[in-house]
Amino acid sequence: MKVLVMNCGSSSLKYQLIDMENESVLAKGICERIGADGSVLTHKPTGKDKYVVEQAMPDHGVAVQLVLDALQDKEHGVIESADEITAIGHRVLHAGTIYSDATLVTEDVKKVVRDCFDLGPLHNPANLIGIEACEKAMPGKPNVAVFDTAFGMNIPKKAAMYAIPYEYYEKYSIRRYGFHGTSHMFVSGETVKLLGKEDAKVIVCHIGNGASISASIGGKCVDTSMGLTPLEGLVMGTRSGDVDPAVLQFICNHEDISVDEMLNILNKKSGLLGISGVSSDFRDVRQAAVDGNERAQLAMDTYKYRVAKYIGSYTAAMNGVDAITFTAGVGENAPDLRKDICDYLGYLGVELDEEKNENVHGETTVISTPESKVKVIVLPTNEELAIARETAKLV
Ligand code: ADP
Repeated sequence: MKVLVMNCGSSSLKYQLIDMENESVLAKGICERIGADGSVLTHKPTGKDKYVVEQAMPDHGVAVQLVLDALQDKEHGVIESADEITAIGHRVLHAGTIYSDATLVTEDVKKVVRDCFDLGPLHNPANLIGIEACEKAMPGKPNVAVFDTAFGMNIPKKAAMYAIPYEYYEKYSIRRYGFHGTSHMFVSGETVKLLGKEDAKVIVCHIGNGASISASIGGKCVDTSMGLTPLEGLVMGTRSGDVDPAVLQFICNHEDISVDEMLNILNKKSGLLGISGVSSDFRDVRQAAVDGNERAQLAMDTYKYRVAKYIGSYTAAMNGVDAITFTAGVGENAPDLRKDICDYLGYLGVELDEEKNENVHGETTVISTPESKVKVIVLPTNEELAIARETAKLV
């Protein structure tokens, strides 16, 4: 069975074609600048040269067709016909309280994705466009929606509730949902396998441009740091993470800006970028800090401190922890960040094998010493494979 995985953003489309027989990637790629000048498809067939197509992509429909053409291309393709694709798995951000598991796309499912536009204004519209473009380009093929909220949807109600009047939960389903669910599900599941302990208590630190942290027992999520939207929790590239809501009112009043403008600032101009004033990219901010930029150093310190604080609270929530696993762009590739965070965790009996840690860049490795009371692990996330597995299960 071959599954095409689609991850549509507002102006981009990432894809992977995965052969489920051996879970190998046949090809992957990205369409960028959809709907803008300079659209480009970069197609990477496994074992063949990269293939770049610079062609106008006025909408996602055109982009999907170009992807299918590339996959079937005589020279750069990996399949002879689109008939070889069994199903398409789509990453979808938000399904409110309606779906907590991956589901076959129907008109009702599309309605739910549409009804959640205001909960995921950047992602849900693009996700729906991607689904509809695939339905049109490959009529009759099953499409599966895999929701980013799915893993966090099943946390206990005490962890999901905001302590605000209950009527808002009843009326609008205002609660904590959590995001990066596919990644947390995959990485916590793989950690449980690696530990060989079915009821393992695991904390997954997904630290990329977006960042979130989850606590799970036996692969079942018990708490996660993102909330109603992906703004809550850790300090991120451009997102603030936790703030006192009164900050919004204060700044709106003093700067004469609207709540929408303020949310835009919290989403796009805060985090590492906001504190450092340098960049949202971890590597740039780290370099600036090394070069003596004090705000960049402060941004780094705040970023790591927040992770350490969450690890402490999730250890309390689970009454213990067996493993702390780092994943995503920064988590997999930044030994300095992992060390600085582990330096806060001596009280848990965490002992890092510093030499091992220094040399791990994205390979699954235990980086704690054999004596460490808690295992510290680096484990690359693979959201596409997780989406493909969920899709294969349903079809
Ligand atoms: P997202 O999927 O949320 O866009 P990623 O998981 O790709 O993000 O992570 C992007 C982040 O990873 C950036 O801040 C980037 O600086 C960081 N990153 C990527 N490679 C490295 C590396 N080798 N060392 C340190 N940080 C890295």
